[in-house]
Amino acid sequence: MAKHTVTLIPGDGIGPELTTAMTRVVEATGVDIEWEIAEAGADVMEKYGTPLPEQVLDSIRKNKVAIKGPITTPVGTGFRSVNVSIRKELDLYACLRPAFSIPGNGARYDDIDLVIVRENTEDLYAGIEFEEGSEGARKLIEFAAAEGAGIIRPDSGISLKPISISRSRRIVEYAFDYAIANGRKKVTAVHKANILKYSDGLFLKVAREVAAEYKDSGIEFEDYIVDATCMQLVLHPEWWDVLVLPNLYGDILSDLAAGLIGGLGIAPGANIGADCAVFEPTHGSAPKYAGKDMANPTAEILSAVLMLNHLGERDAAERILNAVRGVIGDGDEVTYDIKRSVTGSTAGCVGTQAYADALIERL
Ligand code: NAD
Repeated sequence: MAKHTVTLIPGDGIGPELTTAMTRVVEATGVDIEWEIAEAGADVMEKYGTPLPEQVLDSIRKNKVAIKGPITTPVGTGFRSVNVSIRKELDLYACLRPAFSIPGNGARYDDIDLVIVRENTEDLYAGIEFEEGSEGARKLIEFAAAEGAGIIRPDSGISLKPISISRSRRIVEYAFDYAIANGRKKVTAVHKANILKYSDGLFLKVAREVAAEYKDSGIEFEDYIVDATCMQLVLHPEWWDVLVLPNLYGDILSDLAAGLIGGLGIAPGANIGADCAVFEPTHGSAPKYAGKDMANPTAEILSAVLMLNHLGERDAAERILNAVRGVIGDGDEVTYDIKRSVTGSTAGCVGTQAYADALIERL
């Protein structure tokens, strides 16, 4: 029996070719993984009548660990995003987005090593919204006025921003536990508590309480206002270590951090819950590149590096990371996006699988 069984969701668009490259590289390390393939996404809608068949969730619940390719969100079919559904169904409350420099990839900086820990379940993403002109919006506007909370213009649409003690506590504890387990030194809570006193203010209060409980861990704690964080991330990206944020700021700063290290093609990610963890690149299914053997599989492969660390396979993870650094550092056998960032032209780039071959050669 294989040492690890992992649910593999190839996804759609560029997903299948990226996951093929990823499994080839992981297998070349000799690590003992059996992939349990679970199909989800646009390509299985016809077969199962849904882009997220129940057996996909069952497989993840059973194996506890999954890695996926990106999945297209079908527009106008009434189906909600498969990616969001997986996170909700399995209560994957922590979105982990490490951003570290890979010198030679054409990024603006080469000394970044930070980790964004984003709360994945509440905040403005809770989906509690009232359409402009609806009965719900009208009642809420009346209620706010009657409570003396403030005047909302009658022609407003409204989205609520709930932030709870329990979920703030759970995400900040996760950030501290992650920092301890991964040899990190500092956790920064990011917020706008000076303006949003009852939502971000509560998040900050809980973050400070949790930090006090971890004071003997040796992990430093600080808090920072979100707008100032954005400026300092661009000015001094090397300052930051682990950042913990409510959902919306986490979403925005994850992409900012991805931009600092050279773009979505190399930004890995993970969604982690109490029972299960699902690893996936930050980017989407890039349909215009699907089936062309062009897309950069680095983000998918680095997501596998996070997965291998999660599985305790630290040696295999380290070898893959070094291979990625080596091949991108050399700059010869890289995909079109990196070639273009470095030289301004795609001439001399290689395809998805040839890049994976170069990594395997380096292991
Ligand atoms: P996208 O990330 O798919 O593509 C944006 C652009 O980024 C592409 O045109 C391409 O130029 C570049 N790009 C992305 N990944 C790349 C790679 N690996 N190598 C080289 N270049 C790459 O974003 P989009 O076009 O907004 O979304 C397409 C679909 O993906 C949508 O249906 C969206 O909902 C979905 N999506 C899925 C996930 C997920 O599965 N977790 C995440 C984001 C978006």
